[in-house]
Amino acid sequence: MTGRPRPALDVLPAYRPGRSAEQVAAEQGLAEAVKLASNELPFAPLPSVAGAIAAGIERVHLYADTRATSLRRDIAEHHGVDEDCVTVSNGSVTILQQLALSYVDAGEKIAMCWPSFEAYPLFAMLVDAEQTRIPLVDERFDLDALARSIDESTKLAFVTNPNNPTGTCVPTTAIRSLLEHVPSTCPVVLDEAYAEFVTDPSVEDSAPLLDDFANLVITRTFSKAHGLAGLRVGYALAHPEVVETLDKTYVPFAVNELAQRAASASLDATDEMHERVAIVVAERDRVARALRDRGWPVPDAQGNFVWLPVPDRATTVGEALERVGVVARAFGGVGVRITIGDRPMNDRLLAAFDTIEA
Ligand code: PMP
Repeated sequence: MTGRPRPALDVLPAYRPGRSAEQVAAEQGLAEAVKLASNELPFAPLPSVAGAIAAGIERVHLYADTRATSLRRDIAEHHGVDEDCVTVSNGSVTILQQLALSYVDAGEKIAMCWPSFEAYPLFAMLVDAEQTRIPLVDERFDLDALARSIDESTKLAFVTNPNNPTGTCVPTTAIRSLLEHVPSTCPVVLDEAYAEFVTDPSVEDSAPLLDDFANLVITRTFSKAHGLAGLRVGYALAHPEVVETLDKTYVPFAVNELAQRAASASLDATDEMHERVAIVVAERDRVARALRDRGWPVPDAQGNFVWLPVPDRATTVGEALERVGVVARAFGGVGVRITIGDRPMNDRLLAAFDTIEA
């Protein structure tokens, strides 16, 4: 007898991380491969951030400030919100899990547009919730349909802007109108993991919406634009009561001292962060254009990745890329998501596409 796991876990698949370059190189008998599968930034930490991490090493025998008070203050200042409107966790994915644990009981509903971030269904299954999945229309979220689907038993709704894996955006006006239609009993989670990469002018700063909608929860991360994926820091901006609720499901000390220092240092280096983001954005637009020129149906790309909606060929395109040492993320029957790397990585990607018929 090995104990009695909750039956909900019987159907819970494991989260599938992107495959590593080493793994694929070994499988394909190649000297090396490049990984464009996990929407990471292709740059090492900024010197000031690396310095902050190094300075923190002296203190790793001690527990960190579990509330990450100073980091919360820096985030609040960065977004122009009150300090009690900020919570942090070890990655925004953990905040999403905390939201499910905090608001949803077994048999209640979680609404989302689909396809979207794979963690949402996992957390729905974890709490034994029912999923309402609204299909995308032309690779875009249908927020009207999402709003119509929400009823008394819907305890959480996810809106991903821009969406992963499609990279498409919804305008801020559409989010406002969704919030006007959703009952305040249902928190609306606006997952902005890739917000810094957005260039579509219809997407505005969403923080001011917090003044009008107490059920809005904006999640952000240091993993993407800030390039700190390995350190695991994410945060939420929300009404103080929501913050208090989320803090109840926060695992003590989840955000370690090195992570707190690195995140604060990265907020201090916002200009440099934006310079790096601009490089990625320019490369994203170049890659998207080059793929469209080759005949691929790439939708508007607003994150640090491009999307190929090729449901019938997703697996074969993923395999063809791997044969020449490019590791993308193929979602069988849905499409292929490719992270934007540095220029040499992207050139290699485009060369790989020269070997694949659109
Ligand atoms: N939201 C979206 C849409 C994502 O794509 C990801 C990461 N792939 C996350 C949240 C979680 O990121 P992290 O936990 O590293 O903050």
